[in-house]
Amino acid sequence: MTTTTTAAGVPALPAFRNEPVDTFSSDTSRHNAANVLRHIKAELGREYALRIAGRRVKTGDHLRSVNPSRPAEIVGIHEMATADLAREAIVDGHAYFPEWAATPVSRRIELVVETAAIIRRRKLEFDSWLVLEAGKTWFEADADVSEAIDFCEYYARQMAKLASPAEVHQMPGEHDEMIYLPLGVGLIIPPWNFPLAILTGMTVAALVTGNTVVIKPSSETPTIAAKFAEVLEEAGFPPRSFSLVTGRGSVIGDLMVEHPLTRFISFTGSREVGLRIVELAAKPRPGQIWIKRVIAEMGGKDAIVVDAGVDIDDAVKGVIASAYGYQGQKCSACSRAIVHQDVYDEFVSKLQAAASSLTVGPSEEVTNYMGPVINEGALKTIRNYIETGKSEGRLVCGGERAAGDGYFLQPTVIADVDEKARVFQEEIFGPVLAVTKARDFNHALDLANATEYGLTGAVYTNSPEKIDLAKRKFFVGNLYINRKCTGAMVGAHPFGGFNMSGTDSKAGGPDYLLQFVQSKSIAERIR
Ligand code: NAP
Repeated sequence: MTTTTTAAGVPALPAFRNEPVDTFSSDTSRHNAANVLRHIKAELGREYALRIAGRRVKTGDHLRSVNPSRPAEIVGIHEMATADLAREAIVDGHAYFPEWAATPVSRRIELVVETAAIIRRRKLEFDSWLVLEAGKTWFEADADVSEAIDFCEYYARQMAKLASPAEVHQMPGEHDEMIYLPLGVGLIIPPWNFPLAILTGMTVAALVTGNTVVIKPSSETPTIAAKFAEVLEEAGFPPRSFSLVTGRGSVIGDLMVEHPLTRFISFTGSREVGLRIVELAAKPRPGQIWIKRVIAEMGGKDAIVVDAGVDIDDAVKGVIASAYGYQGQKCSACSRAIVHQDVYDEFVSKLQAAASSLTVGPSEEVTNYMGPVINEGALKTIRNYIETGKSEGRLVCGGERAAGDGYFLQPTVIADVDEKARVFQEEIFGPVLAVTKARDFNHALDLANATEYGLTGAVYTNSPEKIDLAKRKFFVGNLYINRKCTGAMVGAHPFGGFNMSGTDSKAGGPDYLLQFVQSKSIAERIR
């Protein structure tokens, strides 16, 4: 096995490779998953404390997470942090920062690699929590957990590179260098839809570069965050290097963003909350001596363009996987199919057949392709969009709740949608796909670009000239050609969007860690 280049004292690591994802198609996998799930269920309804400044704290004010496949089932009971506790976490993260920043890079890398090893060892356990608390199907859960492992392994290797920076030009009579320093205490604010992968990626990127963190997990998936905090502790991260502050973002979010000691905010979530954070972080507060850095990865309205002449079955397969995998609740999900007029009718008819055949039900049952949407509020919002869509286009299939107690929705297709329609412009974040007819490939690309977002996109075409055109004209952070637009792999597909999709931080890419450091240039006269 080849090894990465390392600075003196930094452990040599084998070359990065992506963690394999289980499809749970074998009897053994299914049997093992069912066994672990049974054990995990014995833990449902357990209480978890906050982790503030190295202490476990209970407030008695509880936040309950539920299983969206079976909302009466409580997954975890968590403490709501008070404003004072949230502030304390930041103040202590700031106080501990110099000590953590001085911890040798080799040790920080070791801890991140150990984090990956523990998650790998407990993979089915984490899969189970994702099935129960986030409503992921087993395959989607395993992809999420694998990505979390990938982020750890990848950023550990990127940190080794950052520790031996490229040489700068040498002025005569001087020794010139540039080194990277961590920033301070940062807020880590992940969404619920990749409750382990995004949480892990943002956290370990900040920690491995020498920052301390205050994690404010999503209120939908706090148990997964509590389990991740257990892993950080088990790996050996000092208790004061991270705090875990559960509580409603609408209650404690602003005060943590505004705190003068907060040095940076790493956020992934909606456009609305992301822009609020950007705005609040821009205003200096009394005692603040820096410009806060904000990494904000936000929503999408991603399109797949289908050209004439392509294998329509293949294109339908890619659109189905992108639109309905995890019930369409991915920032990268395809929510618009833009189809050449010559193949439009054939595409819609095959899409209808494929979408109508998808199985929907409790995510723990391996035979279900789709599980529930995350909560009652999401169910209502998505159903309202479906009603709007019925007046803006033609309901081809779906549109109703699917059977069961959970937040189940049928996979929905709305065809003949034009570019002004709300279902064409706004992020729905559910299993709803708008289909639009294009005159030609150029028109299709114009339509694809006609929203304020720019996260992912795909084109299906046989023409090398049109592929070239898409590479130049399709304005998205992640472009896919003749394949689905979801499933970015760490290392291969650095992830982040344009326009209102965010700050294009390119998670899982070679430049990502640069956002968690500042560079210092040093010129020493040779005497
Ligand atoms: P969200 O409602 O914006 O919440 C994201 C996080 O922000 C949660 O932890 C939330 O906490 C917290 N929060 C809420 N209000 C806050 C405030 N005033 N200050 C600070 N934090 C606050 O988004 P979501 O529903 O969890 O996630 C879905 C969204 O994420 C979609 O728009 C999706 O496209 C986007 N997303 C983007 C990417 C990407 O890479 N571009 C990846 C995944 C998801 P509470 O839960 O307590 O409210």
